[in-house]
Amino acid sequence: MPADAIIIDGYVDEPACLGVPPYISPYIRTVAGALISYGFSVRYLTIDQLRTGPAKVNELSRADLLVMIAGVTVPGKYLGGTPATLTEIQQVGHMCRSPKKLIGGPIGFGYAPEGGQKAIRQVISGFDALLEGEPAVALDNYLHGEKPVGTLDYARTDPWSVAGSGIIAQHPGFPHVMCEMETARGCSHGATGGCSFCTEPFYGRPKYRRIDGIADEVAALHSHGARHFRVGRQPDILAYGAGAGEFPAPRPDLLEALFSAIRAAAPEIKTLHIDNTNPATIARHEEASREALRAIIRHHTPGDVAAFGMETADPAVVAANNLKALPDEVFRAIGIVNEEGGQRRDNVPELLPGLNFVCGLSGETEETYERNEQFLVRVRDAGLSVRRVNIRQVMPFPGTPAYTENTIGKYERRFRAFKEFVRQTIDLPMLQRVFPIGTVLHDLHIEVSGNLSFGRQMGSYPILAGIPLRLPERSVIDAVVVDWGMRSITALPVPIRINTLPASAIRWLPGVGKKRVAAVIAKRPFATIEAYRRVAGSSAIDPVLDFSVD
Ligand code: SF4
Repeated sequence: MPADAIIIDGYVDEPACLGVPPYISPYIRTVAGALISYGFSVRYLTIDQLRTGPAKVNELSRADLLVMIAGVTVPGKYLGGTPATLTEIQQVGHMCRSPKKLIGGPIGFGYAPEGGQKAIRQVISGFDALLEGEPAVALDNYLHGEKPVGTLDYARTDPWSVAGSGIIAQHPGFPHVMCEMETARGCSHGATGGCSFCTEPFYGRPKYRRIDGIADEVAALHSHGARHFRVGRQPDILAYGAGAGEFPAPRPDLLEALFSAIRAAAPEIKTLHIDNTNPATIARHEEASREALRAIIRHHTPGDVAAFGMETADPAVVAANNLKALPDEVFRAIGIVNEEGGQRRDNVPELLPGLNFVCGLSGETEETYERNEQFLVRVRDAGLSVRRVNIRQVMPFPGTPAYTENTIGKYERRFRAFKEFVRQTIDLPMLQRVFPIGTVLHDLHIEVSGNLSFGRQMGSYPILAGIPLRLPERSVIDAVVVDWGMRSITALPVPIRINTLPASAIRWLPGVGKKRVAAVIAKRPFATIEAYRRVAGSSAIDPVLDFSVD
């Protein structure tokens, strides 16, 4: 009988890695592969499954070995799952009676419950050992009777990533699972210490993974049913394989080879997106970056987002925190990504920038927030699009400069006013620009069911769509944009069956609103578009109206 191992996914979120559903992190897959290489039969459970099915705790106790992966080093808000709290992590350790219990992942850097609070590094009770450093390598060393400490070595982890790829079929969201793909770990900007708040420099100088190793993993995942991929586990996708230096020039040839290899390895791929992109790379190496972006756009799927860690528009804060890019560089980079990626395919822009702001950094003043607001207004008024603006409070970790030098709590009121300003003044016009009324979004996955259901496309920062109809959870629909919220859109399934649509949904039709719902219902059934227009006028959704009566 093979020994049984169980992996508990407490979810991870780091500056350069996401593993909160629908995402599954590379750590889970390589740990699974390492266990399989030892002959373990591997079971996978998420922290959400444990929360909703406490009986599953018995399953934990029947296993011979338990490995939990957890840790959040950037604060976030999530729809698909809730990362394990420190208390929950310790409960898992204490409740489970397995002979051996190991914990790994970014939790080793410390824990904070939310942004604006300092993380504390402590011994995690209930576990036999912390897998220090790279979890799968540390696990392998431990199973060899050595210390549970691991240094990343892709020659060791690549075969495990293939062997462990089948674990995705155990994910509760499967097949709607986004595989976070690793191409590099460690940040070149770390050469000068890195950004003051960031944990990525803890991984050292960048290590780049070989294209054949990445492609083999993609092929293995694809063979197990994976269709959604984000090349997101790296601090700067444009720096893939680039040379030494703090801001190396992109290698478009390598990006072309990487993304075409992924495509070849996954012929039925549905989503291929990216994540972090360093605006300083784009501003300093414009031509090479343009070529690199074109290479990505040739092979990715549309609706993609290049996330810029801008953090602040105040040059004094940039200097005080050794941040990577000045506001004018970020502005230039936003323009370049708009020029290269702004065209539409499948109704959505190919690739747009996303902006991350971090508040509570050293050197902030009231004026910092004014500069942030002015910067975003400048972007908006220049006609440039950004897919989304993320505003967070710093969560400093021991060992980062921000741990001792920050302005946490000092400008709380101004921070909240900045967020509100962005919601009202920036987010709405950006949504109107990116998702005009009449835009049909394909393959929305319904994640929350209710009188108002919520769904998203699979992707990097997909827009949240509220649908004023009760739809089955996990169903997949196409929907048309009919209105905008601050950070979400309202959509209706297409085709819109106007003659049978419930009144609660009719009010969202452009030109109808609350006032004309009764008029629309009184005139139903409509036989033609002209008859409908006589009540509601014409609008961008006309092409998706359906006049059948049953
Ligand atoms: S550039 Fe800064 S924020 Fe980005 S990974 Fe490097 S240190 Fe972290």
